[in-house]
Amino acid sequence: MRAAIRAAAPLRAAVRSAGRGRGTSVAPLQFLGRAQMSTVVEEPGISSTTPPPPPPSPQQYQPTQQDVDRQQRAKRILQDAVAATAPRHDWTREEISAIYYQPLMELAFQSANVHRRFHNPAEVQLCTLMNIKTGGCTEDCSYCAQSTRYQKGTGLEAKKVESVESVLNAARIAKENGSTRFCMGAAWRDMRGRKNSLKNIKEMVSGVRAMGMEVCVTLGMIDSEQAKELKEAGLTAYNHNVDTSREFYPSIISTRTYDERLKTLSHVRDAGINVCSGGILGLGENSEDRIGLLHTVSTLPSHPESFPVNALVPIKGTPLGDRKPIEFTSMLRTIATARIIMPATIIRIAAGRKTMAEEQQAMCFMAGANAIFTGEKMLTTECNGWDEDAAMFGRWGLEPMKSFEKKEVEVDV
Ligand code: SF4
Repeated sequence: MRAAIRAAAPLRAAVRSAGRGRGTSVAPLQFLGRAQMSTVVEEPGISSTTPPPPPPSPQQYQPTQQDVDRQQRAKRILQDAVAATAPRHDWTREEISAIYYQPLMELAFQSANVHRRFHNPAEVQLCTLMNIKTGGCTEDCSYCAQSTRYQKGTGLEAKKVESVESVLNAARIAKENGSTRFCMGAAWRDMRGRKNSLKNIKEMVSGVRAMGMEVCVTLGMIDSEQAKELKEAGLTAYNHNVDTSREFYPSIISTRTYDERLKTLSHVRDAGINVCSGGILGLGENSEDRIGLLHTVSTLPSHPESFPVNALVPIKGTPLGDRKPIEFTSMLRTIATARIIMPATIIRIAAGRKTMAEEQQAMCFMAGANAIFTGEKMLTTECNGWDEDAAMFGRWGLEPMKSFEKKEVEVDV
């Protein structure tokens, strides 16, 4: 269902409460600061085919002083955020919300400005992700084909851990094709009692590093000792997504808590490994949950080195197998807001890129995304191939980021 609601004033709060039911999200106030305002309550995945009714005439629209104050405050928050010379860690939800709900073109323009001040906008990191242990996971993440709980429906067969040799071979192929970061994912809840597997994974990590590539792993929850061992083996980054807002999280996963996820991130950070942590859009969350996700990661003791933005790829047989795709505007809005509030972070377009038009991807790169997964496969889902991405880079004047190149940029204001 999609309903368009006309608002004669910035009725964000009222509209938010009207559309707060799960599965809905609130599109931003359009024409903020102008007489005409139209607000759309949308359901993720359902495209906007019904045009909103015509805006009220200026004579009809009388903003209250409160509306005007709110708009001015939102503008000031955006201006201050865009003028920042260094990352901030004390964002409030209200500030993130003020940025997130800006008119989309303005938001994308401002995030593009920030992107150009903190990064080389032509550079995009190429990362290849290999599933080194498929399926058989005891967790119940509602979107995941690798959970044993949904195995009957998905038909995915669990496999043993890949050999060190086959992983290094895959990394070599990725490098030959231009990838500079190699990620390895294993479908485990945690690493408890997996001494032998950890030993093999450390060999994989060292072997990939010896090729001059950055290495990332995602192995579920790890403790501080395991994090230290991985650091010693040469690990560049550890991926552990928080997925969504703290409030919405229990609707998606019941077998591990949000705080357990944050604990793993602290072990990774304390070991001196870069944190890669992001979210999945299209789970049925609303805009407030996307703001909640952004608030969680942007208020960590240090911002994630990498923030992957995934669009749910619904897999038949999982509880979210029938979900409609997330609206592209929600994806763009999340990327643009992330770029403004975490200016030095690498923002990665992760799962779901296969379904995005090239122009949509370009818009994301313009607004601040600067990493992609590329190669043959992304865990259990399709991925854009190296040749396809190389051709796209050629058309848009993009180039691959070199390994270990990203560093904090000094910024002039
Ligand atoms: S922990 Fe990872 S592999 Fe296991 S069900 Fe969740 S997303 Fe899938």
